[in-house]
Amino acid sequence: MSQSNQHFQTLAVRAGVRPDPRTGAVLTPIYQATTFVRNFEGDEQEFSYSRVGNPTVAALEEKLGTLESAPPAVCFSTGMSAITTLCLALLKAGDRVVASDVVYGGTFRLLRQVLENFDVRSDFVDTSDPGQLRRALREPARLLILEPLANPTLKVSDLAACVEIGREAGALVVVDNTFLTPALQRPLEHGADLVVHSTTKYLDGHNATVGGAICSRDESLLEQLRLWRKSTGTIQTPFQAWLTLQGVKTLSLRMAQHSRNALRVARWLEGHPDVAAVRYPGLESFVERELAARQQSAGGGMLNFVLKGDPARAQTLLRSVKLCYPAENLGAVETLITHPATMTHDSIPPETRRSLGIGDGLLRLSVGIEDPQDIIADLEQAIAVAVAKRPSDIAVSGAITEAGGARCVAK
Ligand code: PLP
Repeated sequence: MSQSNQHFQTLAVRAGVRPDPRTGAVLTPIYQATTFVRNFEGDEQEFSYSRVGNPTVAALEEKLGTLESAPPAVCFSTGMSAITTLCLALLKAGDRVVASDVVYGGTFRLLRQVLENFDVRSDFVDTSDPGQLRRALREPARLLILEPLANPTLKVSDLAACVEIGREAGALVVVDNTFLTPALQRPLEHGADLVVHSTTKYLDGHNATVGGAICSRDESLLEQLRLWRKSTGTIQTPFQAWLTLQGVKTLSLRMAQHSRNALRVARWLEGHPDVAAVRYPGLESFVERELAARQQSAGGGMLNFVLKGDPARAQTLLRSVKLCYPAENLGAVETLITHPATMTHDSIPPETRRSLGIGDGLLRLSVGIEDPQDIIADLEQAIAVAVAKRPSDIAVSGAITEAGGARCVAK
């Protein structure tokens, strides 16, 4: 069977990886080498220096490209280095970017605090409203950056409509597919020009690496990205690539389990008397349920919720979980809980953040693949602690964590 006839799960295991011709080793070796001896005969040499390309990284690039129905991806040291290199490669002074109003905090910071210094202007619009997007794109933009399932609000934008509006306006459409992965959504098949991944999340899936990747069906865009990666030195290391190669093999199994667990936890939270709101794409109450079902094949592993009462209860809950880890990452086998206002999205001004639905009481749960009964039991005891405390018992210290967020302290 040719590779193009194979199914997603087979490709997740097998694409990009061939037994080592010398030893028969089934896993791609970690080519931990800086340089490759110049071959003066025969074909053009594929590898010369590991800042430009590396065989282990190339295996991951082939696998990720295949899964996004594209030529080999271009891999980067982190998700942010992928997005930064993309911006450097495709933008110049005077250009304009239109982005979803709810994007990952790091992307917001890059566009607002870094690229503005280079005379690149960014406007943030509600891409879930096609009329608003169309109006924003009346003024020319070079890039339209979308998160179709937004982090952390889980607002859904109509991918096909956004792609059409973006392309009609002459913008390159960039989709951050970190939350859903190609197992649940393949934006290039909907006409997007570029797909960005923080491989740190579900693609690695084990909290083991940071990494990034960009896929496209346009060879000239890929060529530009490789040139800028070589020039800025943003490639990933062979060990990062090797670990991610192993993680991706179980991607569809994990995404199915993440989705099942998240639905179960979301339904439980929805029935809890102390929970004010829950958002999860698989819930009957999820407003954009139909749209999400049309463009993603399952709900994914991310949900968010708000407790009734004082928003500071969110921080007590964060300190009270025992199985779930309060941490910045998402998309790994372990359940992680995040308080976006003081962690991942603390670089967004508070007023803007609240107007986007990232209130001080919002908690984001990256539901892992543990037994859902254990996740629920942990949340149950943590919610009980959070609601038992009086508001005056809860204070937030000004201490700054390594990740840049305010550390929560219950008195
Ligand atoms: N895109 C999204 C949606 C993210 O959630 C993140 C990180 O949380 C990034 C990009 C940046 O990725 P990294 O942390 O690998 O730089």
